[in-house]
Amino acid sequence: MAVERLATRLTEVKRRINLAVDRSGRKSGEIKLVAVSKNHPIDKIKYLKEQGISNFGENRVQELLDKAAEIDKISWHFIGHLQRNKVKYLMRMPNCQLIHSLDSWRLAKEIDKQARKNECIMPVLVQVNVAEDENKFGFKLEEVEEFLKKAAELKNLVIKGLMTVVPYTDDPELSRPFFRRLADLKSDLVQKGYDLEELSMGMTNDFEVAIEEGATIVRVGTALFGKRGDYQ
Ligand SMILES: *Cc1c(COP(=O)(O)O)cnc(C)c1O
Repeated sequence: MAVERLATRLTEVKRRINLAVDRSGRKSGEIKLVAVSKNHPIDKIKYLKEQGISNFGENRVQELLDKAAEIDKISWHFIGHLQRNKVKYLMRMPNCQLIHSLDSWRLAKEIDKQARKNECIMPVLVQVNVAEDENKFGFKLEEVEEFLKKAAELKNLVIKGLMTVVPYTDDPELSRPFFRRLADLKSDLVQKGYDLEELSMGMTNDFEVAIEEGATIVRVGTALFGKRGDYQ
């Protein structure tokens, strides 16, 4: 493992986050970095943990469970499309911190049900398909409020905020309008009394713009770990 490269990348990501924080007049404590470790081996995760990174994101349940079995004292974030039949495995984990990808009513009901069985209350984010990209999961912007109303009856999940994955682009400025729309929706909903704190948006190519637009969580894979090769 090229430890020096990981160390250099981590320093660089932190520097870029700090610059974006300064530019936007925010405080660095307002932004949480989730290191997206999908397709990367456990030794890289262990190394970043030693460097003080404590939040890791995965998009497949089996991979998350395999890794979680090998390393403790970190918080896991589930960031991919979640099949209902796999929800129970996440609910049994003591350190599944946040599910970012709540994208349907049926999934919400299953998370609630499994969380109740495990006597826990699961924190989740509502995934919003801001760009209305056919290939992506998530609610439309205009569906979110109604969903929140309905979800209030589910007592074993707590909706902490909103998340989006925007279409891939080399030009981060193209992501800005999508991030802004999600941030505006969050403000509207907060004004209406919904208790939403988190905005999970921004990846390797556009996390600075996301911070400028109000992200509280950025999900960074490639910029930290390097390119994803075949899973080993
Ligand atoms: C893979 C992934 C990321 C990280 O992507 P990078 O471009 O490698 O930073 C973030 N969010 C989600 C939902 C992902 O699937």
